[in-house]
Amino acid sequence: MPRTISSERFRERFDRFNEIGATDRGGVNRPTLSDENERARDTLVEWFEDAGLSVRVDEMGNLFGRREGRDDDLPPVLIGSHVDSQYNGGRYDGVIGVLGSLEVVETLNDAGVETERPIEVVSWSNEEGVRFQPDMLGSGVFAGKFDVEFAYSREDKEGKTFGEELERIGYRGEEPCEPRDLHCYLELHVEQGPKLEDRDLAVGVVEGVYGFVWFDAAFEGSADHAGPTPMHLRHDAMVATSDVVDAVRRIAGTGGDDLVGTVGSVDVSPNSINVIPERVEFTVDFRSYDDRTVDRAAERVREEIDHAANREGIEADHEEIMRIDSQSFDDAVVDAVADAADALDADATRLVSGAGHDASYLNRVCPTGMIFVPSVGGVSHTEAEFTEWDDVVTGVNVLLNATVGKANERPDDE
Ligand SMILES: [Zn+2]
Repeated sequence: MPRTISSERFRERFDRFNEIGATDRGGVNRPTLSDENERARDTLVEWFEDAGLSVRVDEMGNLFGRREGRDDDLPPVLIGSHVDSQYNGGRYDGVIGVLGSLEVVETLNDAGVETERPIEVVSWSNEEGVRFQPDMLGSGVFAGKFDVEFAYSREDKEGKTFGEELERIGYRGEEPCEPRDLHCYLELHVEQGPKLEDRDLAVGVVEGVYGFVWFDAAFEGSADHAGPTPMHLRHDAMVATSDVVDAVRRIAGTGGDDLVGTVGSVDVSPNSINVIPERVEFTVDFRSYDDRTVDRAAERVREEIDHAANREGIEADHEEIMRIDSQSFDDAVVDAVADAADALDADATRLVSGAGHDASYLNRVCPTGMIFVPSVGGVSHTEAEFTEWDDVVTGVNVLLNATVGKANERPDDE
């Protein structure tokens, strides 16, 4: 018989936790290293300790709570997610993964279950990347993608650094943030897309994560008066930008089945009603599960940017600022999640994540898998984010059973 959690206890925890930084419209505002994020961390530490976990904080502020195994020298099973939020974000994103992992521990404690391996619950720092870029900074340093000094030097819009703010809220720990021996990593998260809801399914068994490429780009034209300047004499940076926006949509539509492309940030100067735009800075984001599809889209958008500049007689500049290959999760961990869903009779399907997650970085360190639960309307990163409670509970039950299965694997089972 599969084990199941206490839905009531978990709901009570979930609601109490989301009082921290609660917004009027039903969301939460807990951007990383804010006062609200500090209170959220304090609450986690208290609850971890109440559940008998020994708590450690590493130099990135990643928070670990460890439950001993029968053989405490074996590499642990790591489970968790993040509790920082978008500005005025939702109550589910990240939170269900961390509090769900705590609920897994409490369920095992109640039942007096020992596991062969230790289980560690983790809450990663700065997953969202809204205040300090790039996102997934805590797990990125842990996986060796970035070094700690780079992370500490990241600045928010007010010029405060990640390092200073981490120190200010008291979560700059001593433990080095670096890869260590882990048996596996499991993360429960909301899907943030419509696939599960469309098919009326409760659980997504995540097989991998899209790869992506990011560009910073700029056009430099000439500012001039919007009245006296004839059309043929204009060098309008905004017109070139709009050509690229159009091209991104066209590339995504023709470049591969699952390719998506976005111009998400546009900064126009001087941004005035009666001045021809002189300079536009903008971003481009392409994603697919197929890395070659991303490569081709990146090549095409570079050409489109150069062509748009030529047509408008202006200068173009573009730089690839980030590229992450797609991640395929470990077959055995994916199967463990699928088996747990099966044992619980949950309506599940295998799918691939369009969004990046801490699990994408952990996949470089140890065998990794993820569990998705539906996002109603496919909506996330807003206060309207919602998941039916029954689905959240089903997701945690899958996490519980997959975790127990992995935590009872002996080294010679492998
Ligand atoms: Zn998240």
